[in-house]
Amino acid sequence: MRKRIAILGSTGSIGTTALRVIDGVNASLTEEEQFKVVALSGHSNVKLLAEQVRRYQPRYAAVSDTDYVSRFQRLVEGQNVQVLAGTEGLKKIAEVEEVDTVLAAVVGAAGLAAVLAAIRKGKRAAIANKEPLVIAGKLITSEAKKCEAQLIPVDSEHSAIFQALQSGRHNEVEKIVLTTSGGPFRGARPENIHDATVEQVLAHPVWRMGRKITVDSATMMNKALEIIEARWLFNMTPEKIEVLVHPQSIIHSLVEFVDGSVIAQMGIPDMSLPIQYALTYPVRMAGIAKKLKAEHLRTLTFEQPDFRVFPAIEMGFEVAQKGGTAAAVFNAANEAAVEQFLAGRIKFGNIVELVRHCLENCNYRDRATLEELLEADAWAKKEVMECLKNHQLR
Ligand code: NDP
Ligand code: MG
Repeated sequence: MRKRIAILGSTGSIGTTALRVIDGVNASLTEEEQFKVVALSGHSNVKLLAEQVRRYQPRYAAVSDTDYVSRFQRLVEGQNVQVLAGTEGLKKIAEVEEVDTVLAAVVGAAGLAAVLAAIRKGKRAAIANKEPLVIAGKLITSEAKKCEAQLIPVDSEHSAIFQALQSGRHNEVEKIVLTTSGGPFRGARPENIHDATVEQVLAHPVWRMGRKITVDSATMMNKALEIIEARWLFNMTPEKIEVLVHPQSIIHSLVEFVDGSVIAQMGIPDMSLPIQYALTYPVRMAGIAKKLKAEHLRTLTFEQPDFRVFPAIEMGFEVAQKGGTAAAVFNAANEAAVEQFLAGRIKFGNIVELVRHCLENCNYRDRATLEELLEADAWAKKEVMECLKNHQLR
């Protein structure tokens, strides 16, 4: 089993959970059999990263925000760790020889170069960081094939589908159904959420996650990104993908096969299980995830998503269909808009409006190189700032 791990974004929600998962699995293994943390990365939270270095003794630690490197170096003085800096440093730890599995858990497009680097070295890429797959899914999946690198999803829905797909063959799949809790605004009216506050938006009813994905869960941009993520990870045309609201988040997603059999993966809503499965696959091991009990199954409800409240979902299908530079624009406009919303500079409802504006005004290309995708990403981020400057928002 592959057991030498690099965690990109170890100071985040997924990153810290992954370290707890590794502790949990290691508890029942001998020193020889244990998972080893070979490399870690943080962006700005160097205090936590330094604590992690002291505790896990990795060979390498990368600080991707260069402003924090010297502070970090002081914090780890005397430790036997090689410190790397910037996005180059992040990429470096994804490709070092001693690592066989890279858990991609940074947020946003920033993880793209490192994910590609890991794949090109034939490593297992356990992917939580969905944005690179959204932007460059075609390139990432074809490089993974070429380099015989495994792409294992960590996103709970995609982990569920990955597990369910083991029940049949690719050409036997009728459809895959991504479930969603519905987020904090399930059942709301569109006019009532336009001015929602940051505090309301961050109050997710089920999941505790980083700020960006929590905002994405409120707009349902997260589900839109997941449609595109699924399209690439499982090589499924968008017509075979559906979204279903399931507020309890016990069924993490399901696959329907041509014979009518539906295979669902269940568990309590906790990222430790999909993270662990991506690290131990194809083996299953006892770990820290709490077990599902009968009481969790007493009420499982399902409803159709309301596209008037969450236009992002339809946009997600549209972009998955279009391909090319559309997804890079879609993702980048969202990243920039979410940042502006969290900084208090735009309204909640403006996020999806800005994404729509960028999609309608971009210079769309059907086939795109990595450079063109990155140009599309940069264009959309700039366009969002232009719209703000020109006061084009409601
Ligand atoms: P967090 O915001 O909690 O953590 C983000 C991590 O990335 C931190 O380690 C942060 O460092 C680092 N980081 C931030 N900006 C950059 C940058 N520009 N370059 C490199 N590193 C950076 O996010 P989450 O853990 O919630 O999410 C991580 C990814 O996983 C996202 O893509 C998200 O969509 C996905 N995901 C998350 C789930 C969850 O439950 N949290 C579920 C499914 C998917 P620092 O804190 O030191 O600044
Ligand atoms: Mg998810």
